[in-house]
Amino acid sequence: MLNCDRLQRRKARVNMEGALVARDQVGIQDFVLLDSITSETAFLDNLKKRFNENLIYTYIGTLLVSVNPYKELGIYTKKQMENYMGVNFFELPPHIYALADNAYHTMLTEMNNHFILISGESGAGKTEASKRILQFYAVSCPSTSLLDRARDRMLVSNPVLEAFGNAKTLKNDNSSRFGKYMDIQFNREGEAVGGHILSYLLEKSRVVYQNHGERNFHIFYQLVEGGEEETLRLLGLERNCQHYCYLVQVRTAKEPSDLKISCIPVSKALFVLGFSEKETEYLFGIIGSILHLGNVQFEADSKGYAHPLTACCILLQLLGVHVQVLQEALTFKKIEAKTEEVGPFSVDHAIYARDALTKALYDRTFTWLVNKINESLENKDSTKKTVIGLLDIYGFEVFYVNSFEQFCINYCNEKLQQLFIQLTLKSEQEEYEAEDIEWEPVQFFNNRIICDLVEQRHSGIISILDEECMRPGEATDLTFLERLEERLGNHPHFVTHRLADQKTRKTMDRGDFRLLHYAGEVTYCVVGFIDKNNDLLYRNIKDVSSIQFLTQDLFPQVATQFKSSLMGLTKILTAKEPWYVRCLKSNEDKQPGRFDHVLVRHQVKYLGLMEHLRVRRAGFAYRRRYEVFLHRYKPLCPATWPHWRGVPADGVERILKHLGYSEDEYKMGRTKIFIRHPRTLFAIEDAYEIC
Ligand code: ATP
Ligand code: MG
Repeated sequence: MLNCDRLQRRKARVNMEGALVARDQVGIQDFVLLDSITSETAFLDNLKKRFNENLIYTYIGTLLVSVNPYKELGIYTKKQMENYMGVNFFELPPHIYALADNAYHTMLTEMNNHFILISGESGAGKTEASKRILQFYAVSCPSTSLLDRARDRMLVSNPVLEAFGNAKTLKNDNSSRFGKYMDIQFNREGEAVGGHILSYLLEKSRVVYQNHGERNFHIFYQLVEGGEEETLRLLGLERNCQHYCYLVQVRTAKEPSDLKISCIPVSKALFVLGFSEKETEYLFGIIGSILHLGNVQFEADSKGYAHPLTACCILLQLLGVHVQVLQEALTFKKIEAKTEEVGPFSVDHAIYARDALTKALYDRTFTWLVNKINESLENKDSTKKTVIGLLDIYGFEVFYVNSFEQFCINYCNEKLQQLFIQLTLKSEQEEYEAEDIEWEPVQFFNNRIICDLVEQRHSGIISILDEECMRPGEATDLTFLERLEERLGNHPHFVTHRLADQKTRKTMDRGDFRLLHYAGEVTYCVVGFIDKNNDLLYRNIKDVSSIQFLTQDLFPQVATQFKSSLMGLTKILTAKEPWYVRCLKSNEDKQPGRFDHVLVRHQVKYLGLMEHLRVRRAGFAYRRRYEVFLHRYKPLCPATWPHWRGVPADGVERILKHLGYSEDEYKMGRTKIFIRHPRTLFAIEDAYEIC
C-alpha cells in the first residue's frame, strides 16, 4: 500500500536524523508553530537557540530563513542532498535543499515556472545560497552524458562571473558587485538542459578606485598573483600587485588567506564554457591592458596641456592601436553626446579620460563575457521547457561614505522588497478569494513610498538627476542637491543637511542627502552623482580599440537604464511562482558562530519577517489540492481506502472527520483543503507514518 522504498528511506532518516520535523530537536523549525502571540523576542530567541546548535535554517511556512554561520557546517554533502531529494517539505529539518527540491518538484508537477528570490544585506549569504541550490540541481536532477556538459557549464559559470564581478569590500570578502538573475531550464523529464543569465549594473568604478580596505575585482589578483608565467610574460605583467596603480590603493594590513588568488580555475572554467584559446587570451589581454592603462601618467606642458609620460608598447599591442590614437584619446576631448570637440586636456582631465576608458573597457568586457556564457548555456532544442530562476543581487549596503553605487544598489533592494510585499500579500489574498475562504488582511509597512521617491517619473530622484545631467556645464553635484531640496523637501523619507533639524544636521555634511530606506537610514554623499550618471565616454576613446564591444551605442543615463532593467526584472519575476530565502547576517565581523542580537533583530525587522509570519498565521499555514491530499492520505480512512469513488473534496472531508479534526482546524476551499496549523498536518503525517 505504501511505497516501500520511500518508507524505508523515511525510517532510515528518522533513525539517522534522530527525529522528523514534528518531533523537533532544537527550538522550533517553523516559526508558524511558535505558540504564543508571536513576539519579536520569541522569534529571535528561537533563531539564536538554533544558531547556537549550528542549525542555521528555519522556516516561516515555505519561506526559508538562513543565518550566516561564517563557518563550514558539513551540511552540504552529497549524502545530505540525497536525503532531501523527493521528500516533502516538512518531513526533514529545514534546509536550502528542501526548498530547492520542492520548487523543482512543484515545477515538474504543475509544469510552470518558478523563481527563488534570495535576499539579505551584503555578506548575509545570498551568493552561497544560490551556489548551493545550483549544486543541488547538478546532483539531484536526472542527466544524460550529453546533458552533463550543460550541467558542468552552468556550474562553472559561477567561478568565472565571481572572478570578474566580485570583490572584497568592508562588508564581505567575496561581495557581488553586480546583480545576477539566472534561469535554469528543465525539460519535461526534469533534466537541466540549459540556462540564461541576466546581469545588472556592474560596479565598474571599482576598477579605478577602491575605498580604504577594499579591493579591486578578484580577477586582477588572480591574474597577477596566480597567473601562469607565460601569460604574464605575454601580457608584460610583473608578478607584483604593488606595481599597478589600480591595485595599490588598498592599504589593508593583511589580506584574508582564503581569497582565491589562482587564475587556473578561471582558465579551466573558460575552457569548459567553450571559450577558444584566442578568446581567453583576449580576455586576459583586456585585464592586462587595464593594469597598464592605470600606470599611464601625464605631465603638463608649458600651456598646461597633458602629455603621457609613458607609452607602454605592450599596452598599444594589447589594445591593437597606434600610439597616436591612444595619446589623442587620453589627452584630447571629444564628447560622444555632442558634436563639438573640446580641445586638449589638463592633466586632471587626462586622468579622468584614462579612467573612463578603463571603466568602459571593463564594463563592456563583462557584458561580453555574460553574452558568451549565455551562448554556451543556450539550449537550442525547441521543446517546451520550464525554468527555475535564481536571483542573487547585491544586498543592501551602508558604508561610512555612500555614493551613487550604493544609491543604485539600495534602490534595487527597495524594488525587491516591494515585489516581495506585493507577491506575498497578493498571492495570499487572491488565493483566499479564489477559494472563497474568509481572510483578514494583515498590515504591512509598504515601501512603495520609497520606491516612488526614487523612481517616479518627473518627480523622483532619478528624474531630477537626469534633468540636471541635461544641463552640462551648468549643473554640478551641488545644484543637483539644490534641485532635490526644492522638489522633495517635504518628503517624509528624504532629508538634507539644510532641511534637517539640529540634531540630525550634526550627523550630516553639507553635500549629503539622506533617505529613510525600508532597511534603515542611509546618508549619500552627492559628489560624483552627475558624473557617474552621465557616464561620459569621450568619443575618440572608441577609436582606441577595434574591439567590437567598445563601439556599442551610447546608453541612456545610468540610473534610468538601471531603473528600466529593474522593471524588466520585475516583469520576469511576476510571471513566475515565488520561493523565498531570507538571509541574515549573524555579525558584522565575519566571526564564526557569533550571533549579534541587535544586528539580527534589525534585519528581522526590515525584512518584514514578523509581518510575513503574521500573514501566515492569520491565514492558513498549508494548503493542498484535494486530489493530492486524498492520494497521499487515503490509507488513513477505511472509507477512502483503497479507492474513493466520489469527488475528491468529499473524500478529504471523510478522512479529516475520521481522524477527529474539528472544523476550526481546516477549511474547505473550491479546489484545495486549507489547514490552519502545520501541527495538524504533522499529526496527519504521523498517522500516515504509523499506518
Ligand atoms: P553580497 O551582497 O556582498 O554579495 P552575499 O549575501 O552574497 O553578499 P555571500 O558572499 O554569500 O554574501 O556570503 C559571505 C560569506 O559568508 C561567504 O564568503 C562565506 O564565507 C560565508 N557564508 C555565507 N553563507 C554561508 C553558509 N551557508 N555556510 C558557511 N558560510 C557561509
Ligand atoms: Mg553575493
